[in-house]
Amino acid sequence: QAKQAGRNRYSIFDVSLDQQTRSRFREKERVAQALRQGELRLYYQPKVNMRTGQVIGFEGLLRWQHPERGLVGPLDFLPQVEHTDLIVEIGLWVLQEALRQLAVWEKAGMRTTVSVNIAARHFQNADLVDQLRDLFELYPTVSPGSLELEILESAALEDIQSVRAIMAACQKQGVKFALDDFGTGYSSLSYLKRLPSNTLKIDQSFVRDMLEDPDDLALIEGVVSLASIFKLGVIAEGVETTEHGVMLMRLGCDEVQGYGIARPMPAVDVPAWCTQFRPDPAWLRWADMRWD
Ligand code: C2E
Ligand code: MG
Ligand code: MG
Ligand code: MG
Repeated sequence: QAKQAGRNRYSIFDVSLDQQTRSRFREKERVAQALRQGELRLYYQPKVNMRTGQVIGFEGLLRWQHPERGLVGPLDFLPQVEHTDLIVEIGLWVLQEALRQLAVWEKAGMRTTVSVNIAARHFQNADLVDQLRDLFELYPTVSPGSLELEILESAALEDIQSVRAIMAACQKQGVKFALDDFGTGYSSLSYLKRLPSNTLKIDQSFVRDMLEDPDDLALIEGVVSLASIFKLGVIAEGVETTEHGVMLMRLGCDEVQGYGIARPMPAVDVPAWCTQFRPDPAWLRWADMRWD
């Protein structure tokens, strides 16, 4: 009796595992098809300097314009392909799309920067250096300094020797780096010293809770002083309110990105957004106070 139940359980388990594998395979195939059929989009979210009121650039964020499901966010389809070569192909598309857009904006007289997110698997693949070289040949009007690559702090720590070498080779071409979701990994000071990063990007979870949770506030202060010690830039993501922004300025973090400034938008909306953007008066008041 028990044996039979056991056998049944196993057979049920096998069937569901098989179904899972198959459905994962189908999902991956569907994402591959989305890439081939041109259903992927890059949306752009502004990054601003609160002290100067300037728009410093944009983060390119992947979207899937799905024929039935509408606009699908990256967390709903990237994790399924993150550990396959498809993530490298998608990353290559994202890089090319960002450079193509930068070339278009540059031609229209708009000078800006674009950051894109690079998956660990793509980053750990040394071809990235050659891919970038080829892309800058394809878009010769785009200055490599206007492209920034965001890599997760946790990914950068995985294999620090090779990550460091790849970062250095990309930087030789002029490309910049930010450590994304900073504060969620376990960077030691010596690791940080060895990584040739340009900017630390404070994770949005700390910003979200910083006005209620003194630990998160302290962590942000810590990251800001780390950035200053290592002469790195620092930017906070997930800034939703005026209070977030003012507190970040007081802590010495002037660059921000978040729904409080703008949501990610299609490239066509960017020029009009830039024209109508006005800095939050509370930022300017605070900036004035600091100058007195
Ligand atoms: P991330 O790089 O940390 O990007 C920030 C995410 O926070 C974005 O979500 C953005 O839309 C969202 N966000 C921005 N401001 C706010 C805010 O004020 N409040 C809140 N609650 N959220 C805000 P999104 O676009 O869904 O992207 C999620 C993650 O997916 C990204 O996190 C990044 O890790 C990954 N991702 C996005 N695009 C790409 C890509 O092209 N390639 C790779 N490999 N990963 C990507
Ligand atoms: Mg990012
Ligand atoms: Mg982030
Ligand atoms: Mg994130």
